[in-house]
Amino acid sequence: MMKLDFSQLNKQAKQSFSNQHAVIKKVMQGKVVACEKCGQPLVLITPEQSEQPGIGCIKGCTFISLEFA
Ligand SMILES: [Zn+2]
Repeated sequence: MMKLDFSQLNKQAKQSFSNQHAVIKKVMQGKVVACEKCGQPLVLITPEQSEQPGIGCIKGCTFISLEFA
């Protein structure tokens, strides 16, 4: 039987959430943030540009969906 360590899982999820928040903040401020995987700059995708607005790289390996009120 496998043991799952949920405390570690929650910790990682929390960390990735705060990382995403930091990335969103930087991109909103007009700072260049590179994708962790491909190194391409992350860009803001507005609701006018796509039905799925968010922040992501051109290759799509990083995507953080945003909700625009
Ligand atoms: Zn990428």
